[in-house]
Amino acid sequence: MAKYIQGATGEWEVVIGLEIHAQVSSEAKLFSGSSTKFGSEPNTQVSFVCSAMPGMLPVINEECIRQAVRTGLAMGCKINLRSVFDRKNYFYADLPQGYQISQFKDPIVGEGVIEVQLEDGSTKAIGVERLHLEQDAGKSLHDQHPSQTYVDLNRCGVALMEIVSMPDMRSAEEAGAYFRKIRTLVRYAGTCDGNMDQGSMRADVNVSVRRPGAELGTRSETKNVNSIRFMMQVIEFESRRQIDLLEDGGTVAQETRKFDPATGTTSSMRSKEEAHDYRYFPDPDLLPLEFTREFVDELAKGLPELPDAKKSRLVTDLGVSEYNASVLVADKENADYFEDLLGDLARKVGQNKAELATRAANWVIVDLFGALKKAGKSITESPISTQHGAELLALQVDGTISGRIAKDVFEIMLESGDNPERIVAEKGLKQMSDTGAIEAMIDEILADNQDKVEQYRGGKDKLFGFFVGQVMKKTQGKANPQVVNQLLRPKLDG
Ligand code: ADP
Ligand code: MG
Repeated sequence: MAKYIQGATGEWEVVIGLEIHAQVSSEAKLFSGSSTKFGSEPNTQVSFVCSAMPGMLPVINEECIRQAVRTGLAMGCKINLRSVFDRKNYFYADLPQGYQISQFKDPIVGEGVIEVQLEDGSTKAIGVERLHLEQDAGKSLHDQHPSQTYVDLNRCGVALMEIVSMPDMRSAEEAGAYFRKIRTLVRYAGTCDGNMDQGSMRADVNVSVRRPGAELGTRSETKNVNSIRFMMQVIEFESRRQIDLLEDGGTVAQETRKFDPATGTTSSMRSKEEAHDYRYFPDPDLLPLEFTREFVDELAKGLPELPDAKKSRLVTDLGVSEYNASVLVADKENADYFEDLLGDLARKVGQNKAELATRAANWVIVDLFGALKKAGKSITESPISTQHGAELLALQVDGTISGRIAKDVFEIMLESGDNPERIVAEKGLKQMSDTGAIEAMIDEILADNQDKVEQYRGGKDKLFGFFVGQVMKKTQGKANPQVVNQLLRPKLDG
């Protein structure tokens, strides 16, 4: 379903392509043994290779190659058994080599298709053009001195994967969903930590507009956008700006722009370079990269179950709803938590997983994720272990506690990290299912509230809830609600 933007002179279509830079998870840099650790003192992780001392030679870090291949496999893209490293020449103070080693004509990973899910439940296929490996540059620090700029070369030479999409996205929502999916995939594959506030993942956002069905328009490229929200703001702002410009009879300049998070706007940095401006040529210090099909197959075998496969298994084998399954698989840690908990629960209560999966998924997503979100914690920081979560649900499944009491126990678990069985025992929270005791209590309540009993019998059905409430009050919420209902109804009706 096309979502066009209404302008003063008719409808416009937005076209978006993303270049995602993802930092390879690896101890050492792409061509040197220097550490890639984040947050160290400036210029403490710089070898002679990173600082481009004359005569230094790059040596490929094989783990970075493996990571790029794993990523390509996880994205379902073609793996190129032969690729070439090229020099991309440009001058900048934080690039001591005077060129970046990148891949131009022959990248390590070729085309593929990423399927994303949209809010209305529809799916959309977005093409990937390529993934290539390249070096990161250093960082200019403008805020350390009133009149001088300092340079930190720690990032110089760190391996990046640049993942280039086809211009297939048509809205901010699609671009956000695509970025999220790529982030999910690299995190499953363990090839990039996806940590956007540390700069491990960022995107150049290419935007153009056109009349529906017309040729592609001229694009602007907004550099280094480091959050999904900002990316969506760039798209909204740029499409509006370009439409206004075109409707006023102007033309869009092919240029590089930057985003200002404070105002939510973009501004021009420079006119766009073309590939030939960089004088790309194969790096004479590096041989073409060649590997065998077996090398690739071996890496494929080492990948974990990927999110799409996991999602369909949760839906088909376990009966988890589409929505819940999407939420769970978006992060491997969330999915792992759910599956560990479900396994434990099934063992404890002796039922099969499919009978318990919906209950477990609802508890994990609504109760636990809700509480973690409130506390600003991630699943790995959860005060409730999978075993304790499973115990809490088992206590409900076997009728030891009611759903109401489970909420209280859950609150105590969040605070104390304590084991639910102990909490229930210590606080005497066991559900009362003793029919004799409950019956006696009901008789007492009915006797004390003769007027209400008359009203109920006179047709005021709603009072049933009042009597249930009285029993619950007397038992501090511990009476088994099913038993209460069963006993109360005939007594009132009788
Ligand atoms: P460059 O390095 O010059 O930016 P790339 O080929 O690496 O070129 O990346 C171009 C990016 O711009 C791709 O993601 C592509 O999908 C996108 N793109 C190309 N043409 C358009 C267009 N007319 N509108 C929007 N995006 C575009
Ligand atoms: Mg670009």
